[in-house]
Amino acid sequence: MPRRTKIVATLGPATDDPKALDDLIQAGVDVCRINFSHGSADEHKARVETVRNRARAYGRQVGIIADLQGPKIRIGSFINGEISLSEGSMFTLDAEMDVSAGNEQAVGLAYKELPNDVDRGDTLLLDDGAIVLWVDDVEGQRINCRVVVGGKLSDNKGINKQGGGLSAAALTEKDMQDIKTAAEIEADYLALSFPRNAADVNQARELLHKAGGHGGIIAKIERAEALDNIDEIIEACDVIMIARGDLGVEIGDPELPGVQKELVHKARTMNRIVITATQMMQSMIENHAPTRAEVMDVANSVLDGTDAVMLSAETSVGKHPAKVVAAMGKICVGAEKQHAAMVSEHRMDIEFKRVDEAIAMATMYTANHLGVSAIIALTESGSTTLWMSRISSGIPIYAMTSRVETRRKVTLYRGVYPVSFNPDFSDHAIVNKEAVDDLVRRGAVRDGDLVIITKGDLAGKIGGTNAMKVVKVGEMYTPEFCKIDS
Ligand code: PGA
Ligand code: MN
Repeated sequence: MPRRTKIVATLGPATDDPKALDDLIQAGVDVCRINFSHGSADEHKARVETVRNRARAYGRQVGIIADLQGPKIRIGSFINGEISLSEGSMFTLDAEMDVSAGNEQAVGLAYKELPNDVDRGDTLLLDDGAIVLWVDDVEGQRINCRVVVGGKLSDNKGINKQGGGLSAAALTEKDMQDIKTAAEIEADYLALSFPRNAADVNQARELLHKAGGHGGIIAKIERAEALDNIDEIIEACDVIMIARGDLGVEIGDPELPGVQKELVHKARTMNRIVITATQMMQSMIENHAPTRAEVMDVANSVLDGTDAVMLSAETSVGKHPAKVVAAMGKICVGAEKQHAAMVSEHRMDIEFKRVDEAIAMATMYTANHLGVSAIIALTESGSTTLWMSRISSGIPIYAMTSRVETRRKVTLYRGVYPVSFNPDFSDHAIVNKEAVDDLVRRGAVRDGDLVIITKGDLAGKIGGTNAMKVVKVGEMYTPEFCKIDS
């Protein structure tokens, strides 16, 4: 059985070597993330072009996520590059200080609004929580803090406020420029960092459309406010990313497991895709094999129902990018064998709003209860396969389409595999045969297997799926059969 859970790998210096990228693609990466937090537009363009060329060379489809930096709230830099903070001492974050003039007593702020967003008693977390400061007093533009957890602090580290409440808008000037680059490279998805609400998501989508882009919007759930507005955010986006790095800092790591389960469930129920991200295979930045805790984390995310698992530094700057993808893939396949990953309640108490949605649900109900070997969705936009993949199942769903945008989009959908399919016949029975033959050639099905095909009467029409057909491979296309059924 092919792996159902998709793997997103972040590109970076470690994948720039052509051999390393080829290995990554061969190891089975489904989607590559380019991170606008690092690197120039030209670098990103070159990376995307190479990924698409190499994927084509291997006959693979690899999606692209363009991830915006967002309003990462940062301190300035230090005159000597680094300072040491000791527990109990005082340290000042000063919005009026020169941003590059930091010293042992104070540092400037790249984010000038911070003094307006905090009060005495707040806790600030620097460098992903490695340094903890307690706000003793806000004096104009100066935030005087007591060091609760000390350590080394170096240039431009991020700041999070425990519990959330920083007012920064999700889209910065730089993000607006980067959205144009995302449109230019035809990114399949645009990831929005630190959205607070649906308005942030809608604004990103509008800007992307204005720039001529058509990718789906990923809302990264990574601040406390996003959890307060989670329903409207999920409604407004196509995909959520459980951005456990920043989210964990804001809400506290002990809250993460519960939030992850809740978010995966909510996204699936609301017919959205979900990516689980950050530190999934962290030790493999250096090591050749994951820790057992990492194995459990990836497997548990798969059992939670995530569509995709993501690698960040493990592939972008790690020592073994391809190895980590291969190892993660194996863990996914192991978890997917569990009975719990394959059974579904099938939405028995829900009314369907659309004909194509009803066909998708009928297909999954039939597939899971009849024992078919594969599902073929002849699709234009891929929405039939999105619905199908919201239902847990062990049966592969092949998204067969002539549209390359659709084939790239479904690279994120759990259990959905893109297939280029462009029959120039109008006869339904012959199209069915072509589609099934394609799977036979791939070794996905063989004579005697049952396959379900979904399609619309009007091929080429979006949202037109109105039929589901069960066929037995090898028994479906005698001339008589074609005559009776067209
Ligand atoms: P990042 O987002 O890697 O862009 O910071 C993911 C996260 O915060 O977990
Ligand atoms: Mn983040």
